[in-house]
Amino acid sequence: MRNSDEEENGLLSKEEEMYQVWRRPCEWTACLQVRRCFSSLVNIEKVRVVEVGPRDGLQNESKFVPTERKVKLVEDLVDAGIGNVEVTSFVSPQWVPQLSDSAEVFSSVKKKPGVNYTVLVPNARGFETAKEVSARQIAVFAAASETFSKKNLNLSVSESLEKYKSICADALENGMKIRGYVSTVVRCPYEGEIKPERVADVAVSLLEMGCFEVSLGDTIGAATPGEVENLLKVVSERVPISKLAVHFHDTCGTALANVLVALQAGVHAVDSSVGGLGGCPYAPGAAGNLATEDLVYMLQGMGIDIGGIDLNRVAKLGHEMCKFLERPNGSKCGQAIYSSSKNSQT
Ligand SMILES: [Zn+2]
Repeated sequence: MRNSDEEENGLLSKEEEMYQVWRRPCEWTACLQVRRCFSSLVNIEKVRVVEVGPRDGLQNESKFVPTERKVKLVEDLVDAGIGNVEVTSFVSPQWVPQLSDSAEVFSSVKKKPGVNYTVLVPNARGFETAKEVSARQIAVFAAASETFSKKNLNLSVSESLEKYKSICADALENGMKIRGYVSTVVRCPYEGEIKPERVADVAVSLLEMGCFEVSLGDTIGAATPGEVENLLKVVSERVPISKLAVHFHDTCGTALANVLVALQAGVHAVDSSVGGLGGCPYAPGAAGNLATEDLVYMLQGMGIDIGGIDLNRVAKLGHEMCKFLERPNGSKCGQAIYSSSKNSQT
């Protein structure tokens, strides 16, 4: 039994405060205030959360999401405080039918000033569409694995980089910002372990083409913290850490631990997907991208400035989209919020 006098006089110990918070699990904001004691784990104060759910998430979901719903998802994410959203990909509808309405989605989103709306551009044709819809920021991607590049893009790594050179030059001339991705940075489904030096080579090439940042993607979600530490150590010898972002999939449940290691190395941009949308084409049924809710919960709890993202609103969006897709909520935090609000109603 709790002593109500103690509660009123504010004499609760840390553990008791935690108990009070967890006793009312819907009050997540209060919970975060109690937890702001772990920030000494990292030396950075600010992290940019890059939401990739509408693109990386939805392209790996089997169900097609209607155009208006995709548009609303992007707008709602921005309203919830997300300042960087990868809206879609101008990929061929034959490759990714889930994003066959990409140009319409991108054009329909009401853009808010100060928000970065990115579109992934896999080739020259996609880039032309990006110009037609007046995209201000594009993303290009290359693999660190030769086999993955050949199977995915039908090009060797150097051929794919060569192809992006002219696209990037044109993009810069048009005043666009370019974000680069390197995929399969730790392990490849065909080649296994990938040497960090190969990742560094590709990252350097993308920066030389004019990318303002390169996001290192653990495409199959197999990386563990020691591998991430080593990867960042090697890559940051050739690329300033301020130019690196990380992109983890949570296939094996190591995504948040990997983020922590990346933050400790000085990375301050992290990709995530609302509701943990997405999956791994090489592991059917596996978890998708690192969930934005889980990332936001951890970063806010550590006292890191992420620009006023409203966790409860993001969790609601993840919950609703997962329900629509008839898939389990891929966010642990989202599950906790929604299971506790269900309990409080009964
Ligand atoms: Zn991804």
